[in-house]
Amino acid sequence: KQNNPGETEFHQAVYEVYESVLPVIEKHEEYRVNRVFDRMVEPERVISFRVTWVDDNGIPQVNRGYRVQMNSAIGPFKGGLRFHPSVNQSILKFLGFEQIFKNALTSLPLGGGKGGSNFDPKGKSDGEVMRFCQNFMLELSKHIGHRIDIPAGDIGVGGREIGYMYGMYRKIENQFSGVLTGKGVKWGGSLIRPEATGYGLIYFSQYMLENINDSLEGKTCIVSGSGNVAQYAIEKITELGGKVVTASDSSGYIYDEAGIDAEKLEFIKDLKNERRGRIAEYADKYSSATYTATDRSLDYNPIWKHAADCAFPCATQNELNEHDANNLIQGNVKLVAEGANMPCTPEAINILRDNGVMYAPGKASNAGGVATSGLEMVQNYSGSHWTSEEVDRRLQVIMKNIHDSCLHAAQKYKANNDYMSGANIAGFIKVADSMIAQGLL
Ligand code: NDP
Repeated sequence: KQNNPGETEFHQAVYEVYESVLPVIEKHEEYRVNRVFDRMVEPERVISFRVTWVDDNGIPQVNRGYRVQMNSAIGPFKGGLRFHPSVNQSILKFLGFEQIFKNALTSLPLGGGKGGSNFDPKGKSDGEVMRFCQNFMLELSKHIGHRIDIPAGDIGVGGREIGYMYGMYRKIENQFSGVLTGKGVKWGGSLIRPEATGYGLIYFSQYMLENINDSLEGKTCIVSGSGNVAQYAIEKITELGGKVVTASDSSGYIYDEAGIDAEKLEFIKDLKNERRGRIAEYADKYSSATYTATDRSLDYNPIWKHAADCAFPCATQNELNEHDANNLIQGNVKLVAEGANMPCTPEAINILRDNGVMYAPGKASNAGGVATSGLEMVQNYSGSHWTSEEVDRRLQVIMKNIHDSCLHAAQKYKANNDYMSGANIAGFIKVADSMIAQGLL
C-alpha cells in the first residue's frame, strides 16, 4: 500500500491472491527466499502517454493512454485495452495483475498485461473514434509486437476500435503481423473470438454444475451487462436450456420474466453493437419487460434482488457488493460465476462462500476470451484458419482443463472445492516456478 498509494482496485486484487497463496508460500521455502510475490506485484514496465486527437468540431482533445506490462515470465505480455472514462493506473494494474494468473491457467504461453485510456467512445462519431485510435496507436506501437506484447479488446474496445488500431499499426510498421487479437475474420481474426469469453464462462459454469450432477437446463439466470461478454453468455445459457431474465448497462437494467430468447438477443446485439443505444429501449420494444434506471444513491443494485438459480456479473469491477450477495442468497442462488473482472467485492465473495454458493472467480471463468486470443495467435503464426467448430472444441477443452486444475489445486492445498483458492494457487505456482527458473530479474 505504501508503494502504491491510492491504488485501491490494485490493492484489492493483490490481497485476494495473497490470501489464497499464503499457504503455498509457507509450505515452499523457495517462493519466500526468492521473494516471488513481491516481484509479481511490481509491473515489469508501466507506460503512460499523451494522446492528442481532433474532434468533429476541429477542437484538439487530450487523453491519457497506458500500457501496463505486468509479467512476461511464461510468454509475451497479453491482455486487453479498455477505453472508459474511469480508466486509471490502479484499474489497469489490477487488471494486469489478474491477467498474469488467468493467462497461466489457460495453459498457453502468455504473460500478463493490460492497457487503455480514459477516452470515452460513448457518444463519439466513428470519425472521432478512428482519430483517437490512430493517435493512441502512434505511441503504443513503440512498445508492442507480435512476440513482445499482444493487446486485445475490453470494455469500450470492440471490433471497430481493434480495426482502427490495427490499420495504424500496419501502416507504421509496414508489416502484417498478429500484433492485436480480436481482429475481423477477413483480416487475420479467429472465428469464435467474439463469442469466446461469454461462451467460455457458461462452459465453465456447466462443468461446475456437472461436478454436482446438475446442469443449466431449466435454470433461471441473472446476467448483468449487455456488451460483448453478456451477449454471448446469454446466447450460450439459452442454448443450454437456461432462461436469462435480465440485462443491463450503466444507465439501468431490464427484467424480462418471459426470458431473453434468441430473437430478443438479436435485438440487444443490434442495439448495442450497431446502433450503440441504451438498454432502456428493450422495454419499449418488449411488453414482457420492465426497465429500472440506475439509482446511485442506493447501497445495493436491484438487478441482484430477483430470484434466480445462477448469477453472472458481466459488466464491470465491484458491481456486486455484500448487500447484493445477501439479496442473491435470499433469492436462492446456487452459483455465481464472474464474466467481468473482479465484479464481486471481497465482502460479497465471503458471504457467497460462507453460504455454500458455488463461486467462480473471473480469472478462471472468463479466461475463454484470452485463451481464444491465444488460438488466434497460433493461427496467425502458422498462417492457418480454423473452422468455428475447431475453435469452439478447443475452447471447451481449455475451459475444462482450467476447471479441473482449479479443483485439483484447491484439493491439494486443502481448500476443498473452493474455485477461488484453486485458481489463484494454480496460476501462481506456474508463474512463480518460471520466475525462479529464470533467475532474479
Ligand atoms: P463491453 O464494453 O462490450 O460491455 C460492457 C458492459 O458493461 C456494457 O453493457 C456497459 O454499459 C456495462 N458497464 C460498463 N461499465 C459499467 C458501470 N460502471 N456500471 C454499469 N455497467 C457498466 O465490455 P466487455 O463485455 O468486453 O467487458 C465486460 C467485462 O468483462 C469487463 O470487466 C471486462 O474486463 C471483462 N472481460 C472481457 C473480456 C472480453 O473478451 N471482452 C475477457 C475477459 C473479461 P454501457 O454501455 O452503459 O457502458
